[in-house]
Amino acid sequence: MIKLSQPSIPKQALQRVVKVLESGMLVHGTECNKFEQELADYLSVKHALVVSSGTAALHIALLSLNIGPGDAVLVPDFTFAATANAVEVTGAKAVAIDVERDSYNIDPVILEKVIANWSYPETIKAIMPVLEFGNPKNIIIYKSIADKYRLHLIEDAACAIGATYNNKNIGTFGNFGCFSFHPRKTLTTGEGGLIVTDCPLLADKAALIRSHGMSRTPKGIEFRSIGLNYRLTDFQAAIGRESLPQLDEYITKRKHFAELYIDHLTNLAQKGLLTLPRLESGHSWQSFMIVLDNNIERSKVIRQLKDKGIESNMGAQSLSELELYNHSYILNSNYQVGPNLFSQGLVLPLHEKLNKENIIYVCNSLKEVLVSDA
Ligand SMILES: *Cc1c(COP(=O)(O)O)cnc(C)c1O
Repeated sequence: MIKLSQPSIPKQALQRVVKVLESGMLVHGTECNKFEQELADYLSVKHALVVSSGTAALHIALLSLNIGPGDAVLVPDFTFAATANAVEVTGAKAVAIDVERDSYNIDPVILEKVIANWSYPETIKAIMPVLEFGNPKNIIIYKSIADKYRLHLIEDAACAIGATYNNKNIGTFGNFGCFSFHPRKTLTTGEGGLIVTDCPLLADKAALIRSHGMSRTPKGIEFRSIGLNYRLTDFQAAIGRESLPQLDEYITKRKHFAELYIDHLTNLAQKGLLTLPRLESGHSWQSFMIVLDNNIERSKVIRQLKDKGIESNMGAQSLSELELYNHSYILNSNYQVGPNLFSQGLVLPLHEKLNKENIIYVCNSLKEVLVSDA
């Protein structure tokens, strides 16, 4: 079976994990502190805090910016549900903005229109764009819109570690950048996440919320704010520390496979059977998603690929299509792209353990499935 995704764990990570477990120091300690320094260096950012998941990172970012009841946060319509859930649990409303067909990221024109014409009782406090599947497109535009309207910018870079825009790392443009180390992402610690910022005050707030609002002073432990427990463990950090030096190599490999996919699927795209993603510069290719033509039944394609030994899947959700957020400001403007990507998006296998022949086999199999069907 050619798997959709497979985590890469370097062999040296196993020994390092054993060492941590034998040391008896299991929760946040030396390994987490060193991992944070290494991540801050890698991303060129002042403060990096490891946390228990990407969702925890988003929740901490929102709480640190005092976002809650009476507030609205703008998110993409096409994303994983965690983006909206993190907003909704604070008591704020997640407002879905439709996305672009070529990048799957928030459409900046619709974004600015929604802000300029806002007439609901809630106050818009932040823009929380997703750099979908590692695509850095529009980050500069989101930043300028946030600055223009004096809104916070929280980057949901959960699937975008290592992505860059003009050589600056995604996750370092906003007030906060949030990353996930779930096994489905390019750098993994099992569960895990990261929140980064250049602002020392926000870093301090985030660190308190991560760990019960506690801080250590010469006099002992003080409780300075309300907080939760969103810490990473030292044995998870040990895995991350051995993996981080490999990250750029992983991304190079993924980019090469994405190029191969595009080369070998262009023919089907020209026939109108599918739409391909663009080779955006700085893309980190966490996933490779194509969009099937509306006349093609995706579930059938997934089944037929499975019969050929290939795993494939849908890409992400459309918030406006999920019943869950109907009470929220799913704007009655008609969503077009997000729902289409939700129903016709197809993610193909992409990970470090694949080779060129695997990718070509997937392309040829897809051709057989789509052309015999047409
Ligand atoms: C994976 C992901 C998350 C959630 O990260 P977890 O570590 O699983 O909590 C949030 N947002 C996006 C866009 C993601 O891809």
